[in-house]
Amino acid sequence: MDKHRELISIVLPVYNEEPGIETTIDTLEKFAANQPQNFEFIFVDDGSTDKSAKLIQDNQAYHQNIRLVEFSRNFGHQLAITAGIRYTQGDAVVVMDADLQDPPAVIVEMIAKWHQGYDVVYGKRLSRDGESIFKKATAALFYRGLKHITNINIPLDTGDFRLMDKQVVYQLRQMNEADPFVRGMVSWVGFKQTDVTYERQERIAGTSKYPLRKMIRLAMDGVTSFSSFPLQLANWLGTFSIIFGIGYLIASLFTTMDTIHFAVFALFLMVGITLLTIGMLGSYLYRVFEASRRRPLYIVAKTVGFRTTRDQESQ
Ligand code: UDP
Ligand code: MG
Repeated sequence: MDKHRELISIVLPVYNEEPGIETTIDTLEKFAANQPQNFEFIFVDDGSTDKSAKLIQDNQAYHQNIRLVEFSRNFGHQLAITAGIRYTQGDAVVVMDADLQDPPAVIVEMIAKWHQGYDVVYGKRLSRDGESIFKKATAALFYRGLKHITNINIPLDTGDFRLMDKQVVYQLRQMNEADPFVRGMVSWVGFKQTDVTYERQERIAGTSKYPLRKMIRLAMDGVTSFSSFPLQLANWLGTFSIIFGIGYLIASLFTTMDTIHFAVFALFLMVGITLLTIGMLGSYLYRVFEASRRRPLYIVAKTVGFRTTRDQESQ
C-alpha cells in the first residue's frame, strides 16, 4: 500500500443482509478501485442469523481491505456503528448502510468537503425512495420534534450516513455511552460540520431491519440522551396542577364550597405535588442510573482481517 495515500475507513453495520451483501461488497470494491484514496471496509455483523458473516469472511479472502467484527448477538444498529468506528484506522471514517441505500458516489462529495477543511460531512436526504409514507412522516416529525427539545443542533433529515475526520472519531471513541444515539453524539462533539444532499435509494435486497419497535427505541434513545424535557414535563404538569388547584380553592371561596368542589381542589393539589416530586426524584435517579451501569456496550465474538495487533485488541 502506498504510504502517502489517505486511508478512508468505511463502517457498515450488517444485520441479516445475506441477499444483498455480495452486491454491496462488489459495488464498494469497484468504487474503491477508482478512487485516489485507499479504502478499508469494516463490516460489523450485528448477530445476523443468516449467512451474512460467512459471506463477508469468504470475500475477505479475495479482498485485503475487508475486515469483519462479529458480535456475539444482536446489539443493535447504533452499537454496531459504535464498535465499527473503534476499529477504524482511517484519516476519515464514513458510516453507511450495508444495503446500498446510501450511494457510494456521495462519498466522493463528502471527501471533497473534508478536503476543504470540514471535520464532519453528513448526508442529508432529499428523498427517501421505497419507504412507506408512515416512515417518512414519522421520521420528519421526529427530527423536527427532537430539534425543539434538545439544546444541541442535530441536523434535520440525516441518518448515520456521514464522513468524520479522525479527530472527531477520536472524540467519539472516548464516549462510552450506553444506548448511544450516534448522530446526536456527532453533533454534540462539534468541530466544523456541513452537509451534502443526496437521494436515498431503495434497498438493493431484503427488507428494512427497522421495525416500528426499533424505530421507537431509537427515538427514545435520542430524546433521553440529549434532552431532559420529559423529566421537566412532570415538573410543569405538577406546577400547572398546583396552580389550578389553588385557583380552584380561591374561586370556591367566593362561591359556596361543597364537598365535590373541595374534592376536586384537593385532587389537583395532591396530584400536582406528587407529580412534582416524582419528576424531581426522576431527574436524580436518571443520573445515578446512567453512572452506575458499567456493562460493556457490546461483546465481540471474533474479528477477521485486521492486522494481528488490532485482532488482539478485541480479545
Ligand atoms: N442493522 C444492524 N442491526 C440492527 C438493525 C439494522 O446492524 O439491529 C443494520 C442493517 O443491516 C443496515 C443498517 O443497520 O445496514 C440500517 O438498517 P436498515 O437498512 O434496516 O434501516 P433503514 O435504512 O430501513 O432505516
Ligand atoms: Mg437501510
